[in-house]
Amino acid sequence: MICVGVESTAHTLGLGVVESKKRKISVLLNKTWKYPSISEGYIPFKLAEHHSENAAVMAGELKKTGVKPDLISYSQGPGIGHSLHVGFVIARTLSYYYGVPLVPVNHAVAHIEIGKSECKTKNPLIVYVSGGNTQIIVQNEKYEVVGETMDMGLGNMLDQLGRKLELTPPDAVGVLKEAEKSKKFIPLPYTVKGMNFSFTGLLTAALKSKEREKICFSAQETAFSMLVEACERALCHYHAKEVLLVGGNARNKRLREMLEIMSSSHKARFCAPSDDYCGDNAAMIAVTGIIAWNGKKIKNIKPRQRMRVDEGFVNKNRYILVK
Ligand code: MG
Repeated sequence: MICVGVESTAHTLGLGVVESKKRKISVLLNKTWKYPSISEGYIPFKLAEHHSENAAVMAGELKKTGVKPDLISYSQGPGIGHSLHVGFVIARTLSYYYGVPLVPVNHAVAHIEIGKSECKTKNPLIVYVSGGNTQIIVQNEKYEVVGETMDMGLGNMLDQLGRKLELTPPDAVGVLKEAEKSKKFIPLPYTVKGMNFSFTGLLTAALKSKEREKICFSAQETAFSMLVEACERALCHYHAKEVLLVGGNARNKRLREMLEIMSSSHKARFCAPSDDYCGDNAAMIAVTGIIAWNGKKIKNIKPRQRMRVDEGFVNKNRYILVK
């Protein structure tokens, strides 16, 4: 079965083509068109314009593959309304053109499913860290959020810090680059409540200093320590044997290192997907489209800005991503 996935929840427009044979899935195409991170941040209508302008290029890329899809899937939410609607229109048009079903996919679940498929995990403690989301998740019948940010996402906090400090690029990547230049730690607010955490106080305090390198190093160390502390509590409570880090900020080397040290001290395996599958991408939407499709017509296909991961299903039939 071949599934074409469309991603458009925020800054990235993506096209993914995957093929499944029994429980093995291979990625045939994974292309993204990303709206650049600029000092003014992401303005919804500009994201929609960017995605609309690239829609025809995307259709051309799909045509070049020569595939005949059996399914079209798209990111239904959570996300920015303007962006989501462009992806929905593209996916619906493709579904009509090819005469195949349209499968809406929960974007948060897709980040997890591609991580599980690539890392071949069984029942991991999931740490989902992106711009808008920071959650600690376990899986039972459904995904359950056992810890999360009480205000902003960790990625969003680092992006805002990067923007206010006028770094290059003005986002979390810029913060990581600056942080690597320093080892000087200055204390910042550290807020963990059980398995929940908060980042706004940290951001406000960090912005009072002008020493870029020190601030970036200290903000990362403090925020990541908070997250790792909450994860350690969850790991012990749920007796997890694996820790899976997913989402755009899963590419951060320092965060990976800290979670790996904590996991190995509890004899748990740490894993994270390869870089191409960490940030927003459409391969994960296509993979999840295949996993979610049950052969029945789906009624509620329209985009939804406020979906949560705990609404999503859990993939019981394990799929494996093959290279
Ligand atoms: Mg995402």
